[in-house]
Amino acid sequence: MTANATITVDSFRIIISGATNTGHVRGHNEDAILTDNARGLAVVADGMGGHATGEVASRITIDTFAQLTSDAMTLRNILLQAHAAIVAKAIEQPESEGMGATAVAVLADTEHFQIAWVGDSRAYHWRRGQLRQLTRDHSYLEFLLRSGEITEQQALNHPQRNVVTQALGLNSPEPDVINEQWQQGDRLLLCSDGLSDELDANAIERLLSANADTESAVSELIGAALRNGGRDNVSVVLLENRSEKLSEFTGSGRGLLASIGGLTVVIFVVIVWWLRRS
Ligand code: CA
Repeated sequence: MTANATITVDSFRIIISGATNTGHVRGHNEDAILTDNARGLAVVADGMGGHATGEVASRITIDTFAQLTSDAMTLRNILLQAHAAIVAKAIEQPESEGMGATAVAVLADTEHFQIAWVGDSRAYHWRRGQLRQLTRDHSYLEFLLRSGEITEQQALNHPQRNVVTQALGLNSPEPDVINEQWQQGDRLLLCSDGLSDELDANAIERLLSANADTESAVSELIGAALRNGGRDNVSVVLLENRSEKLSEFTGSGRGLLASIGGLTVVIFVVIVWWLRRS
């Protein structure tokens, strides 16, 4: 009889990949992203405002998350802190008055995730080939859709599709928050409207399902948005709930005993040789 001895060490962790691209039309990139694998934290911010001030607003949002995330701070509170920091900057620099940013943030461990957002930056959940939109845009179009004034079809090329009803830095934003559980193999996608305006949910679902590697999924999504026009800055962050097999030892009990026996004989011979020498 041989007994199998198998030792497997699993490390449960979150993999995060992300990228941002200026696109084909805009002169500069007003999106900004944050990916922090160690903390399971990721953010996409999409800035708006004239004279490149959108870049300032999205950068302030990302910096606020980078500096403030701790166990004591909720994502909602960090978004509100970012709002206050953008407002303060606009007062300090009058030329940047009216700048703002939409943002979506996620904080995850291998069992739970929390998502908070303001505006039309989105989060989707993907599980075994099925995509589900988690966030509801704070936008004029979403308002029209919910009140039944327009259909999904009419929304597709609506002239006011980019009008948001909430943004950090403007008025008094009220972030929405979602708490859910997730499983090994699940993915969370965060994106700016530069992705969701160029790719519908079916296209996003297909590309996520076709790319097992998170980095290639991110670059395929951005590549597809650029091929469809790339009319806006495009940002994509992908989180995957993954278990990594770090090391494995497999051997038969008999083989193990034979190895120990062989080693004992070698040590005995060495000791005898050393004693006879001295
Ligand atoms: Ca945008």
